[in-house]
Amino acid sequence: MNVRIPLLTSHLLLLTALMPSPAGAQSKDRALEHARKLLRSTPLIDGHNDLPWAIRESEKAPRDVAAYDLRTRTTGHTDLSRMAQGQVGAQFWSIYIPGEIKDSGYAKVQLEQFDIARRVIALYPDRLALALTADDIERSFKRGRVASLLGMEGGHAIENSLGALRSYYDLGARYMTLTHNVTLDWADAALDSTRHNGLTEFGREVVREMNRLGMLVDLSHVSPATMSDALDVTEAPVIFSHSSARALTDHPRNVPDSILARLPKNGGVVMVTFVPAFVSPEVAAWEAQAKEQENAIKEAVPDTVDQKRRFEEWKATHPRPTATLRQVADNIEHVRKVAGSDHVGIGSDFDGIDTVPEGLEDVSKFPELFAELIRRGWSDSDLKKLAGQNLLRAMRAAEATAARLQKTREPSTKTIEQLDGKGTSVSGKEKA
Ligand SMILES: [Zn+2]
Repeated sequence: MNVRIPLLTSHLLLLTALMPSPAGAQSKDRALEHARKLLRSTPLIDGHNDLPWAIRESEKAPRDVAAYDLRTRTTGHTDLSRMAQGQVGAQFWSIYIPGEIKDSGYAKVQLEQFDIARRVIALYPDRLALALTADDIERSFKRGRVASLLGMEGGHAIENSLGALRSYYDLGARYMTLTHNVTLDWADAALDSTRHNGLTEFGREVVREMNRLGMLVDLSHVSPATMSDALDVTEAPVIFSHSSARALTDHPRNVPDSILARLPKNGGVVMVTFVPAFVSPEVAAWEAQAKEQENAIKEAVPDTVDQKRRFEEWKATHPRPTATLRQVADNIEHVRKVAGSDHVGIGSDFDGIDTVPEGLEDVSKFPELFAELIRRGWSDSDLKKLAGQNLLRAMRAAEATAARLQKTREPSTKTIEQLDGKGTSVSGKEKA
């Protein structure tokens, strides 16, 4: 440039540049730059995103994959441009189905969710690529595609059938949460009644068959007793695709320290989630109170319109607290402290949550979380493990376990009746 800056002005500019930046703004940018650079070199693998269900339930065009155009800005937390901004390297798309649908059959809805997720992946071949193995994740990352994996949410989907489990593996499922929010015939859920005090014998057989297939056993949503039983029986690393630390927020969906302490031996990964009520004790307490209030109103007021109005009034005078990015970082640090840096990952639950932590509003914000950890002194090595190296290691171990087991073990044909004595107990009753 030929523009001459008067001497005095140039000195002032120099002085300004040398002065410490106000409120650490400069260090923030430096940490963010650092985070962005790091996430270009190692895939960020997110454990849980509910986009397929958001598409199914979309108000404008339910189940219409093309209408829910990821090339434009969506009303949800996820689209292609924000994923690129958030430097998402791989995504486990949740193929969730509610455990509460009893009459229409789980298989139909589960298959439809596979179909939606696989059509989303196929629709954007320049941006997404189906991934079935850890190698696939790394290959897609190198080609600049978001490696897209499928994770089943809720063992109710297999309807007590190991044959169904195997078929879902063949359709691409690479993890399954043993339960969702409903306790099953073979496993207790975190948010439902205790029926078995963990896993039944058939539940253990489900874990063994998942090991043989190479499907990751996902312990998000199960009760601590189920977590413990699964850790006893599994021969491969487990994951928690979207859970946080119970020591920090006493929510039943979180992982207790006693379980975190078992992860080094198992090799598993807790993918810390952003769900506000799981990372903020204030939000958890508010939600519990709101639920109580809602129930009390339902008992006291017969009319449903009045019920709604009364509840809205209560909420207006009891505003919901907000979780923060710092609280998510606290959870990540707690898991690292108790389980170790080899056992922590990230599982946002974007598009599966109504509210988000301040600072983690959508999929574009992941680098901000890494910047926060960089400011807290995390090493590049630990940050890479958190981003995805831990998940890759666990997945490779699960694949190796499957290869080993398939040499000696046939597909299990055991039934829940054989293993848990359902039916035999009925005839026993008749005799008594
Ligand atoms: Zn969930």
